Amino acid sequence: MSKETEKKHDGFIRRKGILAVISGFSGAGKGTLMKELIRNYDNYSLSISATTRQPRPGEVDGKDYFFVSKERFKEMIKNDELLEYAQYVDNYYGTPKAYVEAEMEKGKDVILEIEIQGALKIRAKYPDSVLIFITTPSAEELLSRLKKRGTESDEVIKKRIERAMLEAVGVEAYDYILINDNLDKTVKHLNYLIQDQHMRASQQLEFLEEFQKELRTVI
Ligand code: 5GP
Repeated sequence: MSKETEKKHDGFIRRKGILAVISGFSGAGKGTLMKELIRNYDNYSLSISATTRQPRPGEVDGKDYFFVSKERFKEMIKNDELLEYAQYVDNYYGTPKAYVEAEMEKGKDVILEIEIQGALKIRAKYPDSVLIFITTPSAEELLSRLKKRGTESDEVIKKRIERAMLEAVGVEAYDYILINDNLDKTVKHLNYLIQDQHMRASQQLEFLEEFQKELRTVI
């Protein structure tokens, strides 16, 4: 194998970043998981979504979300600035396109923390993306985590549980389901799942091509 190829070899050859879509029931602990993933491993970039929802206490514009008006959101759709968007419990959420594409091009694995309609749109556009669904071990635990968070009214919690009932039906479309019963363990599993995607044959086409060329000249 050529020196160049050997240098890049590390169990796999990293050509381009993976697009990892993480969804999960509201209250399943996705936010904390994402924070820990980014803190523990340096190959990830977290996409920041635009939303028309009001910030929760402690949320920062440009860090947790880009909080925008309905008018600005419509303009983003019109200007083709979003990779996907969806409506979720009375508000709009969307993934800004430019950041995701630039980070993947740099070789970063990009995390989209989005709901199911958006996830399916990403899968249609990027067949190589990996879709991972996070859940609590039980529905009871989900309700208790939502209540403990204390940031939503009973009415919104009810809507989020109703939404979970709908999403539970679509979960088969995902590649993996991760039960978040222990933060450290789940963060490790999540990292393995995403890093394994680099070894897919479809991610290694340039390597295979180079290998085939060398086979022809090796004897
Ligand atoms: P929350 O209001 O709890 O922050 O988010 C509500 C839901 O919207 C979550 O399921 C979250 O994953 C999803 N979401 C956040 N950003 C986006 C986005 O850019 N696109 C889509 N489709 N869903 C998103």
